[in-house]
Amino acid sequence: MNAENFSAGEQLVTPAYVRQGRQARRTHEQLVRLLLEKGKCPQDAWDESTIELFLHELAVMDSNNFLGNCGVGEREGRVASGMVSRRHYRLMHGIGRSGDVSAIQPKAAGSSILNKLTNSVMLDIIKMAGVRSATSCFVVPMATGMSLTLCFLTLRHKRPKAKYIIWPRIDQKSCFKSMITAGFEPVVIENVLEGDELRTDLNAVEVQIQELGADSILCVHSTTSCFAPRVPDRLEELAVICAKYDIPHIVNNAYGVQSSKCMHLIQQGARVGRIDAFVQSLDKNFMVPVGGAVVAGFNESFLQEISKMYPGRASASPSLDVLITVLSLGASGYKNLLQERKEMFVYLSNELKKLAEGNNERLLDTSHNPISLAMSLRNVNEQSGAAVTQLGSMLFTRQVSGARVVPLGTSQSINGYDFKGFTSHCNNYPCAYLIAASAIGIKMQDVDLFIKRLDKCLRLCRNEKPLGEDQPRCTEQTTEAEVAELTRELGDILQVETAAQPDISK
Ligand SMILES: *Cc1c(COP(=O)(O)O)cnc(C)c1O
Repeated sequence: MNAENFSAGEQLVTPAYVRQGRQARRTHEQLVRLLLEKGKCPQDAWDESTIELFLHELAVMDSNNFLGNCGVGEREGRVASGMVSRRHYRLMHGIGRSGDVSAIQPKAAGSSILNKLTNSVMLDIIKMAGVRSATSCFVVPMATGMSLTLCFLTLRHKRPKAKYIIWPRIDQKSCFKSMITAGFEPVVIENVLEGDELRTDLNAVEVQIQELGADSILCVHSTTSCFAPRVPDRLEELAVICAKYDIPHIVNNAYGVQSSKCMHLIQQGARVGRIDAFVQSLDKNFMVPVGGAVVAGFNESFLQEISKMYPGRASASPSLDVLITVLSLGASGYKNLLQERKEMFVYLSNELKKLAEGNNERLLDTSHNPISLAMSLRNVNEQSGAAVTQLGSMLFTRQVSGARVVPLGTSQSINGYDFKGFTSHCNNYPCAYLIAASAIGIKMQDVDLFIKRLDKCLRLCRNEKPLGEDQPRCTEQTTEAEVAELTRELGDILQVETAAQPDISK
């Protein structure tokens, strides 16, 4: 509604009322103006009505929504299904042009604003989360692994002699494949065991650089967020080595935005040495569906080169999802989520420690890992290696997701590379163990139910009678009794939640 429309409305309804409605609209518009002018995440959460108003206004700026448009091109943003159209708020043109995923589309001013704005707001959040000196970033509609590949492919042109990527080992397949897919040969740097922690072998990194020669190395590919007992790489020292030998440094920060420690490592690394880009997953850090990543860095022209490397246009969905999400949280809401995650990490850590001690096991001392925790499974393993694996299946059938057991001595071949002790980040970790993480969005109930079910499964593994059952049972099948118990537990949760609601009927 513009001024003329409001005046026209005054012929139908008392002008005073229309004026009030007009003012109400202005408060929505002011929020939109601030967002467009500043390009920063608003402090307070936006109401859904403001977000929808904003998205509809963007959509009518795109040519597919022009009322008088006659499209005679091969890409006119036509969508057959109304459902699909609504799912995308009528924004059909995606992002980018054939030569650059960050370029502006003449046919789609609204989508182009959305794309630029999302990147700007994401930069604000990355700074807020701890990498204060980051200068640019962009959302790519690919998950982390493929986004890392894009970074490596961009470096290829700058380092024509390079064949190798120096990679402190992390047992996660997409990190490894990101290098293989880009056509490079990973040089695996085994971690060193310090106490219970697996840490970067800086000396081995430097020895490899000297042996292979800096020119033959594309980059160092390091990792912040990882499963315990591995801990974030020694980023500062790696960054200094990269600066010393003039070798690029790409950081896999997959789920590190949610941890101030991981972000601080990147900030420090860039301050004292060299970091060219760091990559983070949208779903793992911002609670959106899988499909996007943010590539960020400290040098705008390098970031532009990466975005130009992307061939063609791309889906706007990841950008749209994350923009809606941060607007509906506000900076304060996102900070609260980060704070809750940190508190739940301490809670999970304490609870897991108690449970470990009660079961004659140990919470491994991995204090450098701010997200993931590991508990030894020595006793289970003493029964048999299979018992460790079985514990994993038992947890899975009891609807515990995300906890992983790591038995001793599993080997795996990935793209022709043999990894001894795969999933434990080293060839032979001293004990079998179980890991669990406190990731953004986790609730106290998640921890409580996990601890309860894990305790029960550990008892079953020892062939102890679970409370209230006559026969000891160690099975991977969920029984009727267990389904009933899961339902009961769920009932308890729902009841607690219902009880917490104020009764508004009175
Ligand atoms: C999730 C993750 C990745 C990338 O996985 P995608 O599915 O490509 O997002 C890479 N490294 C680590 C440590 C991860 O946790």
